[in-house]
Amino acid sequence: MLMVSDMLEIARGRIAEERVRAKSPDRFSGASEAVPLVVWNVCQHCDLRCPHCYLAAGTRPAATDLGTREAHALIDDLADCGVRVIIFSGGEPLLRPDLFELLAHARDRGIAAQLSSSGIHLDERAAGKLAELGVGYVGISVDGARQFNDRYRGLEGAFDRALAGVRHAHAAGIKTGVRMTVTRQNAEQIEVVLAAAEEAGADRFYVSHLVYAGRGLRLMGDDLAPSESRALLKRLFALAEARLDAGAKVRFVTGSNDSDGPLLLTWIAERHGPEASARVERLLRARGGNSAGEKLVAIDPRGRVHPDQFWQAVTLGTVPEQPFEEILRHPMRAELRERVTRLTGRCSFCRFQELCRGSHRERAHAATGHLWASDPACVMTDDEIVGQGGSPCSAA
Ligand code: SF4
Repeated sequence: MLMVSDMLEIARGRIAEERVRAKSPDRFSGASEAVPLVVWNVCQHCDLRCPHCYLAAGTRPAATDLGTREAHALIDDLADCGVRVIIFSGGEPLLRPDLFELLAHARDRGIAAQLSSSGIHLDERAAGKLAELGVGYVGISVDGARQFNDRYRGLEGAFDRALAGVRHAHAAGIKTGVRMTVTRQNAEQIEVVLAAAEEAGADRFYVSHLVYAGRGLRLMGDDLAPSESRALLKRLFALAEARLDAGAKVRFVTGSNDSDGPLLLTWIAERHGPEASARVERLLRARGGNSAGEKLVAIDPRGRVHPDQFWQAVTLGTVPEQPFEEILRHPMRAELRERVTRLTGRCSFCRFQELCRGSHRERAHAATGHLWASDPACVMTDDEIVGQGGSPCSAA
């Protein structure tokens, strides 16, 4: 995840680097010693039919979802291993009847909880309950203007209900984000979604690239070409800067493509000069690019542990049959820690390697059949990654 607004403020000397590091210390710690953040897909079902759903969620509860007793045991196991944050995701987590019970158990075990939701069931009561249980953040997906969103996500009224969910969570005192996954079908609608997010009181506007997993595999042909993603990101960076200048509270974030960081760095260097980009580069370097399987793992509804939520093709182990601590010793994690030495193609000689770490391995694998191939969605040009074209990164 690239914290665009924070990086822009650091570039302009408005906030100190330490403040950003303090907001999420785990992201800035060394990968090898970090206890991972866990994304837990608590159920396989959802009301919506989004074409990019990486879990290919169905509409009915799956008999294979972990039961309540197993889920409690899982939370205990994660807490005993030192996990400090769980992002409860789905399917739609609010469709799980024991969700509040599980959140209460996580809280009692000292784990901070966040929620990733469609927002469809986030009414006033649910928002109040989440706030009472200490949920610190709710991310809600919206993929376009009202009519497009409802058709695309497969439910009439989804747009209005999602934004009502943002309002309810905001009113209950929970930080909120609106997340949009961009493809050629909706890239022109980012301003519309941003306006709706701000109007609903969202704290964060999160633009995510497409990952080729689950139903998203079938959407691969609609993914933006790297040049189109570049243009979109530059539009987004300019929007983020304009909203900062206007004193807006909304913070811009991008995700699912770690080459966004180098692009922001070059954009900042062109606009704000080398000192500004050096400050941002220090932070990007400390954060260290993609960390799937290292600082992050995902647990699917059956209890299978994956390097991240998109990377369902690789399983590190299964809870509760195996202790989480044992799963964390899977040799794949050691390979991922050394991923930079394994990368091939343009990622292998890229001078932004330390900032990006080859971006998403599951996308490279889905597109090429090779785990260590270059990420086909990289937004940097050939000239930029070898150091021509005035790129500022000192990693060369
Ligand atoms: S070439 Fe690879 S390592 Fe370099 S920015 Fe692109 S995805 Fe990242």
